[in-house]
Amino acid sequence: MHISKLNVGGVNYSITLEENLIDPSNKQHVWGYTDYAKGVIYIDKSLNEQHIMQTLVHELLHAMLWETGATESYNDENIVNPLGNMLYSVLHANDLNI
Ligand SMILES: [Zn+2]
Repeated sequence: MHISKLNVGGVNYSITLEENLIDPSNKQHVWGYTDYAKGVIYIDKSLNEQHIMQTLVHELLHAMLWETGATESYNDENIVNPLGNMLYSVLHANDLNI
């Protein structure tokens, strides 16, 4: 993956790939999670390239909602998961460099 930093709503988020990623909030193995306070998106390094980009889009949606101040919905997987998967597929299927 060639992306190391993205601006979301005026805030810089760095993208970090790590082995055996564990979400510190629930100690679960995850493909990705976002530390909003530090502005860091973590993604599991062992994923293939498409799953890395799919996970990045997913975490970006969390970050976008967080930065809008949507405190009720920023962590709602029922919104973020399907929207993230669909956004990734549309960007990928239409060669929009993702
Ligand atoms: Zn999520």
